[in-house]
Amino acid sequence: MPPPSNNVDDFRAILQQVKHIVVIAGAGLSAASGIPTFRGAGGMWRSLDATSLATPTAFAANPSLVWQFYHHRRVKALEASPNAAHELLAKMSIPNYLKTIAPAAKTFHLVTQNVDRLSTRAMDVLSAQIGKDVKLADRPRPVSVIEMHGRLFDVKCTKCDWCTEDLSNPLCSTLGATDALLDDYHDAGSKENDIPEDALPRCQQCGALARPGVVWFDEKPLRLDDINSIVYKADLCLVVGTSSTVYPAAGYAYRVKRHNGTVAVFNLEPNKGDEHADFVFLGRCEDELPRVLGVSESKPSSTKFEV
Ligand SMILES: [Zn+2]
Repeated sequence: MPPPSNNVDDFRAILQQVKHIVVIAGAGLSAASGIPTFRGAGGMWRSLDATSLATPTAFAANPSLVWQFYHHRRVKALEASPNAAHELLAKMSIPNYLKTIAPAAKTFHLVTQNVDRLSTRAMDVLSAQIGKDVKLADRPRPVSVIEMHGRLFDVKCTKCDWCTEDLSNPLCSTLGATDALLDDYHDAGSKENDIPEDALPRCQQCGALARPGVVWFDEKPLRLDDINSIVYKADLCLVVGTSSTVYPAAGYAYRVKRHNGTVAVFNLEPNKGDEHADFVFLGRCEDELPRVLGVSESKPSSTKFEV
């Protein structure tokens, strides 16, 4: 198997022919927006390994600690703004715009592992800019975004099926009171700052303890059936801001390859398994995506979209 190419002309030649495009996005998509990844070297929060807090077991053991962690992440996500990569991907959901990049394209989907809601926000901003006075093919399609790991802003009940999106900050006064501890608090073992369970967010339907509506480790990602049928159809898979070797992107990229589709990776650093991809474009995805797709002159957020 030949090594992956980084030839833009060859990639664009394939773009001319593809019909069904799926983007699998990971943490690197939001890195330029200042969203911490909580993996690798920066993966600590209050001297705890952050991934160990994103589990049902951690929540059962100390809901106050896990809620404080998620309060922190909600605040960071609310402070952040979508970057050029989020904006471009939102714009690609507009059928007539997509045709300027991939003339034969019939569908476009963005499956994101990120829970920061920035792809949805980019879509909201674009929808507001364009309005509803244009024909359907010139409007963004928010349905093309699938947030497979849920959203930081969803709050759901631990007992009944109540779930709602709540963008308020803080979610409750007790969590707001922990703001002073957010950045330089290192005594994770201390119970001193624990919030009693009845003062944590509660279900508005049955009153039980509520939890962050994100998908934790050991839990099933959302909308897997939809994602499977999208991936089954796709003849181009763009892996953005994550390695094509890490699940779930690895599985999806493999399946697109298996039925003779093309896989292109856009990531900051090389990863060993990316050698199975057809193309690898290394660099910041907010620079590389527009450059490789041939739209680097366009800034969707600052220039008015022409239809
Ligand atoms: Zn409930």
